[in-house]
Amino acid sequence: MKAKLLEGKLLGDRIKEELKKEIERLSSSPTLAAVQVGDNFATEIYLKAQKKTAEGLGINYRLFKLKTTASERELMGLIEELNQDSSIQGIIVQMPLPPQIERQKIIKGVSVLKDVEGMHPENLGYIILGKPRFLPCTAEAVFELVKSTNINLYGKEVVIVGHSEIVGKPLSLIFLNEFSTVTVCHIGTSEAGHLEEHVKRAEILIVAVGKAGLIKGDWIKEEAIVIDVGINKLGDKIVGDVEFAGASERASFITPVPGGVGPLTVTMLMRNLIKAAKLQQIKEDEF
Ligand code: NAD
Repeated sequence: MKAKLLEGKLLGDRIKEELKKEIERLSSSPTLAAVQVGDNFATEIYLKAQKKTAEGLGINYRLFKLKTTASERELMGLIEELNQDSSIQGIIVQMPLPPQIERQKIIKGVSVLKDVEGMHPENLGYIILGKPRFLPCTAEAVFELVKSTNINLYGKEVVIVGHSEIVGKPLSLIFLNEFSTVTVCHIGTSEAGHLEEHVKRAEILIVAVGKAGLIKGDWIKEEAIVIDVGINKLGDKIVGDVEFAGASERASFITPVPGGVGPLTVTMLMRNLIKAAKLQQIKEDEF
């Protein structure tokens, strides 16, 4: 294999050491409130990872659970309480929510200074202005992995496959702010038969679709950096969206799946929480 592996855990461990020092400098340990509505297997796994990472850093982690049948009003009531509670610095609402609850309404209900997932429209808007307050955690994890290669982003051909609100769209702006040339591909690109030609140009390729083997190994440009965000179950194995064996013979750097973006995402959540705690401190000092 030619490519170097970009392992999220290793980078995450380095960042966590810095976060521990930052927490020591805060007047008290920050608290993250996790809100869960109903039960979901994938959410349980993510919650466990959040709790473990938080505890490892000395962050207080509080879980607030509502029944699957909870109404939108009930959930909004809880979020309002958490917004007002000065002992809580960050709020994460676990997705997906049951169908009776409108996702966007809930995201907009979280205080902009406690929005550690970076999903509130105001916080997304700051990315357009090139002055992000909180970046969505997965997009931030991808950006950290790319930066860890020390590549100069100026003028680079960045191709993003997948245009979701949490990954593809914010990443397109993040790279644009670095003066990269950004192409965003999606289902329309594939259906028009243009996916391969765009992917073949990519000096930095980011794929977040959720389709195993969508990106063929021989489409990868020699020396490209490949970040595979996709998570797919193939038999009893977890794989990404990129054909790993072929791609790793051409790329200079590549993320493994699992072990690439995933483990770093929770670390980014904690980094956002610490930033939130600092911002709220400044706000309190102002008054
Ligand atoms: P999504 O599921 O909301 O959207 C999928 C995107 O893929 C859309 O832009 C769609 O147009 C595009 N798409 C679908 N079929 C396509 C095709 N044939 N060719 C090109 N594009 C196509 O996206 P998401 O929520 O960002 O999730 C994408 C993947 O990333 C999933 O596998 C998800 O599990 C994974 N994910 C991982 C993490 C993590 O590691 N921390 C976080 C979020 C998402």
